[in-house]
Amino acid sequence: MKKLEIKRMDKYRVNARSLIEASLDPLITISTEGKITDMNEALANITGITRQNLTGTDFAEYFTEPFKAHEVYQQVFANGSVSNSPLILRHKEGKLTDVLFNGSAYKDKKGKVLGAVVVARDVTDQKRIATALNEAIIAAQLATEIAETAKIKAERSTRIAEDAVKAKQQFLSNMSHEIRTPMNAIIGFTKVLLKTDMSEKQKEYLSAIKLSGDSLIVLINDILDLAKVDAGKMVFEQIPFKLSLSISAMLHLFEPKIQEKNLVLHTDYDKRIPEVLLGDPVRLHQIILNLLSNAVKFTTQGKIVVKVHLLEEDDEKVTIEFAVSDTGIGIADDKLKKIFENFQQAYSGTSRLYGGTGLGLAIVKQLVEPQGGCIHVESKIDVGSTFSFNLIFKKTNAEAEYESEIVEMDLDVNNLKILVVEDIVLNQLLMKTILEDFGFSCDIASNGKIALEMLKTNTYDTILMDLQMPEMNGFKATEHIRNIMNSSIPIIALTADVTTVDLAKCKAAGMNDYIAKPVDEKVLYNKIVSLVKKSMLDTVNKTAEAIVTPSLKCIDLDYLMRRTKSNPDLMMQMISLYLEQTPPLITSMKQSLKDKNWELLYAAVHKIIPSFSIMGISSDFESMAKKIQDYANKQLVSDGIPELVLQIETVCNQACKELKVELSAIKNSLIENEK
Ligand code: ADP
Repeated sequence: MKKLEIKRMDKYRVNARSLIEASLDPLITISTEGKITDMNEALANITGITRQNLTGTDFAEYFTEPFKAHEVYQQVFANGSVSNSPLILRHKEGKLTDVLFNGSAYKDKKGKVLGAVVVARDVTDQKRIATALNEAIIAAQLATEIAETAKIKAERSTRIAEDAVKAKQQFLSNMSHEIRTPMNAIIGFTKVLLKTDMSEKQKEYLSAIKLSGDSLIVLINDILDLAKVDAGKMVFEQIPFKLSLSISAMLHLFEPKIQEKNLVLHTDYDKRIPEVLLGDPVRLHQIILNLLSNAVKFTTQGKIVVKVHLLEEDDEKVTIEFAVSDTGIGIADDKLKKIFENFQQAYSGTSRLYGGTGLGLAIVKQLVEPQGGCIHVESKIDVGSTFSFNLIFKKTNAEAEYESEIVEMDLDVNNLKILVVEDIVLNQLLMKTILEDFGFSCDIASNGKIALEMLKTNTYDTILMDLQMPEMNGFKATEHIRNIMNSSIPIIALTADVTTVDLAKCKAAGMNDYIAKPVDEKVLYNKIVSLVKKSMLDTVNKTAEAIVTPSLKCIDLDYLMRRTKSNPDLMMQMISLYLEQTPPLITSMKQSLKDKNWELLYAAVHKIIPSFSIMGISSDFESMAKKIQDYANKQLVSDGIPELVLQIETVCNQACKELKVELSAIKNSLIENEK
């Protein structure tokens, strides 16, 4: 070899050596006996033993499993190489290093194995990362499992909580029913008793019983309302109603109390408010009733002002501000926030002095806020308080639904026949007493099925329908009356549970209105009378539409008055005669048509005709009746006859209803004159 070449080779060797030394992984050469013949510094570092002491020693000794190491390098000699065999090197002080053993044998020119070059790749970091990764995966799996368990637990807890709320609701609903049914009877019969003759002392005691009963019912209603709010079940209706009528009806309710306390009531109603609005009149009543009853309760002198003002208006909606002011005891500043919380009264003595439970305002707040409104109070001790709230109502072109109207007791409708459908005997007796007190007659059916049977053979002006009854409940019975019997007779639901009852269900079944038990006699009277009146008007309107007559009433007593010179006795006689004769004539007219007995049909219609002009019934009906006569006379079977007969029947029934009202009005005016 030339000198230069030797020099170059030496240079390469030096370079290779420095590369070997630079490696952080141990590089070792071993003999065929497994003795270390050379190494880099990395092996000395990993084992903690000097290179000098390592040289010539048994390579396998530095591994935690020498036997395995021995096997691996034997494989190198046998197979020529081994790659990535995992082993662990031990530092003399105990520290372990994970390595991947890679080796390859080196041979002489004849192919004889002289030894092996081994690279022990330090994989501590990778192993640590892998372990950490593994641990992280396990931790993540564990966390997922924990989260799953927590989720299942949370779901179970939610279910339990929901069940508990449902159970609470059901319990409250059942309890309220259980409590209200006997309370209903207690209050109702107390009212009946109060009307009888008794000593002043007895009256006083009875009034106290009634008062306690009334407060108990208010309390039960309040608790039920709150439970409903808690359960998120407070539903707000959107029905067309007349706001001014609602307000004036409410104010009427307070008139006696206000007069009794010598207070002045002032109403300030903004005339710009549209007549019919869309909203929940029942809840609005509840809000204003609570505020008004507080104003009256906490005021001993001065006045109460109810303001209803239009704040904003656009094409679709109006914002209205309601305010109830009083000149009462007032509330201290620091108590103002507290009074809207459940069971909170401004002062500890309030309940003793004024009664109440501290629930009213909490309910008011819960009724105003979910409707998008806000409630506000301003008050000064000994000067007075103003509670105000805003509500938004949609405008509507629809006609106000009857439900929102509470008619004043200015109508004198007597002789109405009411069907009471009620299963509880006490309630039956109570309703009978109340209705008879109104001068109405009544029949009782103890379930829906019996009611349907009775409706087949009797005519009633209104049905009072309990909801929960055995055999057939009120909803089913109403559906049958509306859909199978095709009757539009007014039906008022009687319910002990007005706050939880599904009013929409009542409506869907076809009921016209509902009334809460214990029945407020005045409200019941008003509801019956206005429904009967409305149903009368509807019938007349329908007839009016059919024959295009401008009059709303089907009778006109002008003629009769002229003929009798307004002699009440004579008028009464004539009307009574009409009322006596007409129904059998109508029955005969219908029956003869059915039997195709033309002679009888002719005779019946013939007898009906003169009464039209006497009672001022439109001459169009007379013409119709004559047409029937004509057909009957010629014994012509015409498709039009049944329709004409129906129209005559409708107008005669309507006339009977109106004449009954007139008759009692004349009777009453006679009694008044005699006084
Ligand atoms: P209740 O009237 O049944 O006590 P409320 O929730 O209606 O319960 O009222 C809570 C409290 O707020 C009352 O107890 C009373 O202290 C106070 N308060 C409410 N309205 C008035 C008012 N118009 N004047 C004075 N204090 C009032």
